[in-house]
Amino acid sequence: MQNWIWKQTNGIDYITLPTWEDMGVTVAFSGRNGGTSEVPYQSLNLGLHVGDKTENVIHNRNRFLSALGQKLDSVTCCQQVHGTRVAVVNKKDAGKGAYDYATSLADYDAMVSNIPGIMLTTFYADCIPLFFFDPVHKVVALAHSGWKGTMGKIACKTVETMQQQYGSLYSEIYAFIGPGIDSCCFNIQEDLAKKVTKEFAGLSDIINMGKNGYRWDLKETNYQILIQIGFRPENITCCDLCTSCCLDKFYSYRQEKGLTGRMGAVIGLKY
Ligand SMILES: [Zn+2]
Repeated sequence: MQNWIWKQTNGIDYITLPTWEDMGVTVAFSGRNGGTSEVPYQSLNLGLHVGDKTENVIHNRNRFLSALGQKLDSVTCCQQVHGTRVAVVNKKDAGKGAYDYATSLADYDAMVSNIPGIMLTTFYADCIPLFFFDPVHKVVALAHSGWKGTMGKIACKTVETMQQQYGSLYSEIYAFIGPGIDSCCFNIQEDLAKKVTKEFAGLSDIINMGKNGYRWDLKETNYQILIQIGFRPENITCCDLCTSCCLDKFYSYRQEKGLTGRMGAVIGLKY
């Protein structure tokens, strides 16, 4: 079911889910346009660790957060090291990583929180953002699922933490699998294809043969992992936009050979 839309506020384009917004959640994934960064980071680069000028990134981050009706001070970031550790975010973590990469939560790739006003934030150029919202227990979570995170089942580790910390039930959690590289562009080597097939033996059609060899569908893998552990299909929204195919809208690490900016994923309880 597609219930994500593009929205534009004050010249900033981003993807959001109106049904989640109506339930009291700020949820967004930024596009690349409407910012002040210059080539090769043009223009709404939100990544502080990619070589762009810090003042431009902070300016872009402020504009994006203000388009969402939020403040940069309420943002909490994690380091994103392509691991699978999940941080439980509390009030004291507000502002960590917002102005300085060094203060991001170290060694984490996912965050969960039930504190209203805290905006969990992660950054992307092809990896898959996983957004979670439990409307019953009022909990949100965000996970950075590149191929390593997907392999390490960071999706499961994130929702396990929601369950353990807050009593969330998988049948009640909503998930949004956001924009990221699709199987049209995600070619992998044969040895990795074999490992994926072995690791996810119970899943179907996640590896396909394209004209350039093996292609791995990271979004479909995450979708099937969540169904397997008890998510309801109607509670999962998947964005079909490929970041590598849409350079007019997104940054792509693969397509731009590593020298590019980052989009931002944000989720937080409004009240
Ligand atoms: Zn593509």
